[in-house]
Amino acid sequence: MRLSRSVQEVVDNQLCTQCGTCVSVCPVQAIEMRETPAGMLVASVQEEKCDQCGLCRLVCSGADFEMEDLENIDPFKGRVLKAYVGHAGNEAIRASGQSGGVVSALLLFLLENRRIDSALITSMPADGSLRPHPILARTKGEILAAQGSKYCPVAPSTLLGRVENGERIAAVGIPCQMHGIYKLSRHRNPLASGIKYKIGLFCDRTLFYSCIEQMARKAHLKMKDVAGLEYRSKSRNGWPGEVCFHLVSGEKRFFSPSLRSSLKEFFTPLRCRLCFDKLNVFCDLSVGDAWGISESAKGDSVILARNEAGNLLIRDAMAQGFLETKEIDAELVFNAQNIEKRRLDFSSFMKLYGRGGHLLPEYKGLMTEFLKAGNKALDAQNKRRLNYSLDIAGSATKENALARARAWQRKQKRDLFFASLLGKLKGWIRALCAGDDL
Ligand SMILES: Cc1cc2nc3c(=O)[nH]c(=O)nc-3n(C[C@H](O)[C@H](O)[C@H](O)COP(=O)(O)OP(=O)(O)OC[C@H]3O[C@@H](n4cnc5c(N)ncnc54)[C@H](O)[C@@H]3O)c2cc1C
Ligand code: SF4
Ligand code: SF4
Ligand code: SF4
Repeated sequence: MRLSRSVQEVVDNQLCTQCGTCVSVCPVQAIEMRETPAGMLVASVQEEKCDQCGLCRLVCSGADFEMEDLENIDPFKGRVLKAYVGHAGNEAIRASGQSGGVVSALLLFLLENRRIDSALITSMPADGSLRPHPILARTKGEILAAQGSKYCPVAPSTLLGRVENGERIAAVGIPCQMHGIYKLSRHRNPLASGIKYKIGLFCDRTLFYSCIEQMARKAHLKMKDVAGLEYRSKSRNGWPGEVCFHLVSGEKRFFSPSLRSSLKEFFTPLRCRLCFDKLNVFCDLSVGDAWGISESAKGDSVILARNEAGNLLIRDAMAQGFLETKEIDAELVFNAQNIEKRRLDFSSFMKLYGRGGHLLPEYKGLMTEFLKAGNKALDAQNKRRLNYSLDIAGSATKENALARARAWQRKQKRDLFFASLLGKLKGWIRALCAGDDL
């Protein structure tokens, strides 16, 4: 058996981030993205087509990522020139944006000023598939129709191979997607040459597609009746938004955000547990929700300008009224996004998963001084979370994935019940020993 030089090893070790870069880079179109039963997208190499050139593995950031550029800079925060809070100048764009509509306003500014020809973004179709797909948007209508966050797998970089010669694009993506683009540039791959702007989104995690079915079940909806999904719709009660299912009948059904948040831990891919980069540190500017900084129901975004190009873009867009922002202290963003918790969790997950002898993503240049040891309680909790990810990802069918997720949920409820009972018992015993009246 010959040793594969493709990304197959990355996929086999569950380290694929689902970015799609390898699909674009393969000279013989031997790679496609496939959906697993639990609902992840992973690269799939057709060995009979592959000629072992090794190009896909060279640009893949799933198993190894060089980050020497950040030498002595905290990778959990990244380089920040300036930080802002604000929103789109146009109220309609703000209203349909996930937070403040900043990303779409910036894209429109770039398109209307002819600084780009298209934007690589992600659109959710209303055809019942509930599978977002990447597009190269060339019109205002396409950019606006793709607003809003899709908290599930998407592989935008599969489209990089379709960018025409000389076409200038702005790429919008979550951190792992930006890592793929960063590696393409680092290795001087021509696919990166058309990317003029990199607009990053903050990212805590994506969720398996099977989470959508579990949400629908909890909401007492049948999948055959569902045409579309907005993970966080602002249309009824404003920011931060509710889960909104669009039904085939045309009706919209709104549910509390807890419908999604209560399921998050069970549907998180392993690779997200092993990801340090919540704030998208390898782009021109990164954008997230203004949690803890603005409470406006219209929605506001926070923006971290990572370099001069990103900062100039914000200033130019403001000068033409596309954006309204004010400068803030970046530390406010780090605190509101709970970056110290991310540091602790990442350090704990890497330690725990590495202990099992598994292949870990290698972040070359990530200095250990930026990691932080947690405590036994955190490790115990994270061990359970790793189990959820591994168990559910390993399901042979979608039904099996859903059944496993429900079993873990039931177990979690039982454990919480007994932990609280134990706490109460201890309290009573202490009180009895002290002779208190119960
Ligand atoms: C998976 C995921 C996790 C996130 N986690 C956090 C978080 O933990 N904390 C936080 O503050 N913010 C998080 N965000 C970012 C936040 O949800 C908003 O996307 C961000 O604030 C920009 O909002 P906006 O109103 O400026 O953008 P909009 O004007 O709504 O535009 C959003 C753009 O993002 C694109 N997009 C949507 N989903 C995806 C996707 N999956 N992959 C690539 N592009 C996509 C859309 O096509 C659109 O162009 C996350 C986003 C995603 C997609
Ligand atoms: S390039 Fe991206 S999609 Fe391809 S194997 Fe690596 S992480 Fe997965
Ligand atoms: S090794 Fe080369 S030919 Fe084989 S899948 Fe990767 S890029 Fe394609
Ligand atoms: S947490 Fe990291 S690996 Fe997971 S989707 Fe977000 S950027 Fe990608």
